[in-house]
Amino acid sequence: MSSPIDTAHSLLVDKRRVLVFTGAGISTESGIPDFRGPSGVWKTADPSDFTLSNYLRDADFRRGAWERRFNSPLAHARPNAGHEAVVDLWRSGSMVGCITQNIDGLHQEAGLPDEAVVELHGNSTGIRCVDCGSEPDPDLIEARWRDGEADPPCEVCGGILKTKTVLFGEMLPPIAVQTAGDWTAIADAVVVVGSTLSVYPAAGMPLEVASRGAPLIIVNDGPTDHDDLAAIKLEGKAGELLPALVALLTS
Ligand code: NAD
Ligand code: ZN
Repeated sequence: MSSPIDTAHSLLVDKRRVLVFTGAGISTESGIPDFRGPSGVWKTADPSDFTLSNYLRDADFRRGAWERRFNSPLAHARPNAGHEAVVDLWRSGSMVGCITQNIDGLHQEAGLPDEAVVELHGNSTGIRCVDCGSEPDPDLIEARWRDGEADPPCEVCGGILKTKTVLFGEMLPPIAVQTAGDWTAIADAVVVVGSTLSVYPAAGMPLEVASRGAPLIIVNDGPTDHDDLAAIKLEGKAGELLPALVALLTS
């Protein structure tokens, strides 16, 4: 009997436009907690609080957001073997791109070029004024925060600054949605890594690829909402399973 990795290999070996779709689970081995896993953020915080309207009307909420931004594990996290395996797959020429729900920038830090990544939920690096749209240097905002401005206002218009992370109730970045849609339309297989496939519209993208009959491979530690649609599920750590799978595909 062949192992799940061998099955995944045989499903992917002749594919040239593999879509990789990642979620918070690919970054837990870098020390960044996920949302819905066993020690996820949702165990201690209520997801319904993370809305744009709360951010705009509640200065306390914004102070908490800056605290998380500048004092979070994201600031020092390094890519892990899972991120590196995605880069190896890209370099092999058989990947159409990587759609990530993550905001941590670790795919790019691992070496995936910008044109190979769509950050569907934005990123926590960039900062923008919600009122005038100006984009200050994040290092300057961090310096002001460390100097005691717990909720630094925009220096151009006095408005509210915010990271480019997409909150609930906020539009997804249009260019990201466009590119993600293009890749979804032409993918001949999809590999989901570290996502419960429960956040929409993001989760609809790999499901659309699967609905065309292309194989859906799920690499996840724990159940997802759509295990039943997977051609094969690799159950366990992305940092172990993904390098093993990519090594077979690129050898
Ligand atoms: P999720 O938290 O809903 O699901 C993560 C899944 O990954 C869980 O099933 C978990 O058990 C699994 N997992 C955890 N560690 C794993 C590992 N080492 N290997 C394989 N699987 C592992 O995450 P989601 O589906 O991405 O949705 C959550 C939302 O949270 C997204 O919208 C994303 O924007 C945001 N988020 C991002 C980050 C980040 O940038 N790193 C972190 C937390 C949340
Ligand atoms: Zn402004």
